[in-house]
Amino acid sequence: MRTIDSLGPLRSRTVIVRCDLNVPLADGVITDDGRIRASLTTIRELREAGAKIVLISHLGRPKGEPEARFSLKPVAERMSELLDAPVGFVGETVGADASAAVDALGDGDVLLLENLRFNAGETSKDDAEREAFARELAQLGDAFVSDGFGVVHRRQASVYDLAQLLPSAAGRLVAAELDVLQRLTESPERPYTVVLGGSKVSDKLGVISHLIERVDTLLIGGGMLFTFLAAQGYQVASSLLEEDQLDTVRGYLKTAEDRGVRIVLPTDVVVAEAFAADAAHEVVAADAIESSSFGAQGIGLDIGPESARAFAEVIAGSRTVFWNGPMGVFEMEAFANGTRVVAKALTETEGFTVVGGGDSAAAVRALGFSDDQFGHISTGGGASLEFLEGKQLPGLEVLA
Ligand code: ADP
Ligand code: MG
Repeated sequence: MRTIDSLGPLRSRTVIVRCDLNVPLADGVITDDGRIRASLTTIRELREAGAKIVLISHLGRPKGEPEARFSLKPVAERMSELLDAPVGFVGETVGADASAAVDALGDGDVLLLENLRFNAGETSKDDAEREAFARELAQLGDAFVSDGFGVVHRRQASVYDLAQLLPSAAGRLVAAELDVLQRLTESPERPYTVVLGGSKVSDKLGVISHLIERVDTLLIGGGMLFTFLAAQGYQVASSLLEEDQLDTVRGYLKTAEDRGVRIVLPTDVVVAEAFAADAAHEVVAADAIESSSFGAQGIGLDIGPESARAFAEVIAGSRTVFWNGPMGVFEMEAFANGTRVVAKALTETEGFTVVGGGDSAAAVRALGFSDDQFGHISTGGGASLEFLEGKQLPGLEVLA
């Protein structure tokens, strides 16, 4: 992997940096600036080297044309505060205004261009359309630094095509994320435990089948646990169940048994009358979900306290833990206990801990934990999962 050092002296050279500044916004206010903070290491280093810095990023999912609510302007303001230096902003990605703003940069100056996805070429599946947009971007700089870890699994103009048009290298964030993921895939210290949750099994099939051959213990919570319970013949009432995945899950249980991998399912579950923050709820045994007061209507929304304790004990005895996917509907306080207990166990174990997944990272922050209590919180959910699945990521391949 080529790093920034491979680009040579950068003083007075214009360096385009692809960041992932896709932060959550509520009424134009940034609610979690984690991704902006994560981008600062590379930007600071380039400033010290005297480069002229042009930042590019996407935000949200606009459909290839400008949409005010997805403007990166608030990000430029927040970044300026965090960097303690001016961050210029221009209201287009490419065009006469963008070029003029880039030409006006002095050594060490920072400019953020408007949302890449206001341009149809950014995410186009048509190679020619994507390349044409990448060419326009390439004209703005002398070198390219790829530091948006959250998008390296995407074959997009600013990630994949642009890297082939300019001297290019991985930024410090991408390099740091890769170090951690390599540690998880190459020689994890054992016992190695993976905690999986989140909403659907079908989102995580790739990662489960890859990890099942490599870990010592798999702890299963979240919405996917019901498909695992059903695969063993239990009734799950109205809980999230993916019938079309039952055979696949039975296959996982078989593989795990053959390989001596322990799959731990919850022994108790929090069942609610409805999917609502104030719904009546009670704890029942995992093999008797239909016996709750809500009968066939009951919905499992969290792992129970006994299971949370059991999961925490396994985590305490692990040397490496990777966690992806909340244990329950943590957005509602009544169903946040499992996620909280697991997060706390991660902060207390002496092992190396990694949290991957957008909602998982948001969950630990929302529940009041801080980033430095974990070994690593990945900025890229999809990218880290695809890496752990053993897939080739286009945005990394081009930097090889
Ligand atoms: P990540 O982004 O970390 O990979 P996912 O996107 O897979 O995680 O899943 C996160 C979502 O899963 C959360 O919004 C949470 O409310 C939901 N979830 C967790 N447990 C359940 C459950 N028992 N039933 C329905 N949804 C659940
Ligand atoms: Mg998610």
